[in-house]
Amino acid sequence: MIKHLRSAADLDLATATLILDTAGEMAALAGREVKKLPTLRGRTVVNLFYEDSTRTRISFEAAAKRLSADVINFSAKGSSVSKGESLKDTALTLQAMGADAVVIRHSASGAPHRLASWVDGSVINAGDGTHEHPTQALLDAFTMRSRLGRLAGLRVAIVGDVLHSRVARSNVLLLTTLGAHVTLVGPPTLVPRDIAAALSPATKVSYDLDSVLPDMDVVMMLRVQTERMQDSYFPSAREYSRRYGLDLARMRKLPEHAIVMHPGPMNRGMEITPEVADSSRSTIVEQVANGVSARMAVLYLLLGGKA
Ligand code: ASP
Repeated sequence: MIKHLRSAADLDLATATLILDTAGEMAALAGREVKKLPTLRGRTVVNLFYEDSTRTRISFEAAAKRLSADVINFSAKGSSVSKGESLKDTALTLQAMGADAVVIRHSASGAPHRLASWVDGSVINAGDGTHEHPTQALLDAFTMRSRLGRLAGLRVAIVGDVLHSRVARSNVLLLTTLGAHVTLVGPPTLVPRDIAAALSPATKVSYDLDSVLPDMDVVMMLRVQTERMQDSYFPSAREYSRRYGLDLARMRKLPEHAIVMHPGPMNRGMEITPEVADSSRSTIVEQVANGVSARMAVLYLLLGGKA
């Protein structure tokens, strides 16, 4: 088993499949009255969050607690980070406290790689800048497999602000490893062709959402990440929604069995309308529940938990 999960590229087919299968076993636990396993008793998991998060932080905390690990939540606000302490000094503090795993979210792409060279424990990337978010890709793959029964051969459109999306990057890498076919869709300013080619030569690019939808099994909508935009990438929010937003009329162009995903947080009314987000085809709430199972599987396998 790998020691760190810094990128979806750390996962080969066998490892990714093992994590998804283990997540399935963890999900079965969620239906029980007592949701806890003793496997990581006495181990310490630190959640080191330098960037805002709702779902991911809570999800990692729930996952570690369900495995009986001791959980320390560190948020940059209110810590010595606000006094200018470097990531390295914070890492050395965690190291001195004996963290078995550090879950890190940071605005700098590559922060988990640096951290892994300073601590002995496992490092898990919970989102680094615009780079990657591998556990999101795992929970997304798990959701697709649960709903559609397979991953190999699935046709997946990832739509919107690909340029700033770590979710898109990790999904392209993992889905390609798992044998799915990915098409990136959005305005040319937000879907540069070189990104697709660099991630995986098989990835297709389209600037016309309407023409792509009838062929898809999955459509994954991305949040427009205005907080990471220095320039204007499209004329107006209204124009963006008109061309790339998923509303009911567009959703009807999908095949009957196709599902609609979004990693959250959503800009309701911009990339997705409330009617679509709350429809029976949407897996958005399921993705959150599956996130806990996927992260339990990652913590369990990386920390070598015993049954
Ligand atoms: N929650 C995801 C992330 O942290 C997606 C997003 O923020 O749009 O990358």
